[in-house]
Amino acid sequence: MTTQTCYMCDAPSTSVEHVPPKCLFPDPKDLSPEEQSLDFKKQLITVPACHEHNGKKSTDDEYLFCLLAISLISGKNGQQQGITKVKRILERKPALKTKVLEKATPVIVKDTETGQIDRTIALEIDHNRINSSMESCARALFFKEFGQRFIGDVRISNHFLMDFDPQYNEKVDQLRQIADELFKNIEPKGENPTIFTYKFRIDEKNPNNLLLEMVFYEGARAVAIFEGTQTKA
Ligand SMILES: [Zn+2]
Repeated sequence: MTTQTCYMCDAPSTSVEHVPPKCLFPDPKDLSPEEQSLDFKKQLITVPACHEHNGKKSTDDEYLFCLLAISLISGKNGQQQGITKVKRILERKPALKTKVLEKATPVIVKDTETGQIDRTIALEIDHNRINSSMESCARALFFKEFGQRFIGDVRISNHFLMDFDPQYNEKVDQLRQIADELFKNIEPKGENPTIFTYKFRIDEKNPNNLLLEMVFYEGARAVAIFEGTQTKA
């Protein structure tokens, strides 16, 4: 029997890591009475992980979960499951609570297409932390899909955050449209589509051009750009 190595490094694996992180899946107590009979945890994706690359990032993953759940454009699933679970996580982790709610400001957002007005909160976001969680997801999915570890850099483009800066929002809008076009004919994968789906876009002519779309809660999307072709079995 061979020992498997971690999806992130050369160390032998000691456990499995869930993709997306387990904390993104609802617990039965987070579900409404009508949802109790639904199974949101079908065939969860796992990859082998060393001690460092499994346990260490759980606070980052909870931070990611909180932001996804609060994010305005998350589908209704993210929001429903979100509220009780976000509260619970924040109560258990006072330092995370401080971090997430740092400089929180109530704001009113108007949808320019429908005219609908929503109340939400604006947060100062730790982009490095979000991107690090997203990057781990992307590398794990690569490992799962191709049976090898990706060695190059992975860049993350988040499409679910808005900013007070209209230029930032405009840029995100453009990226969103480009991604819509690039991924439109690819079937999404994932057994729990209300929680998470993903699509790899493999460019046969240019293997340097590997893209991955990850969609959380049917609405919050991030795109991972794999730079280079180096892998390690
Ligand atoms: Zn590792």
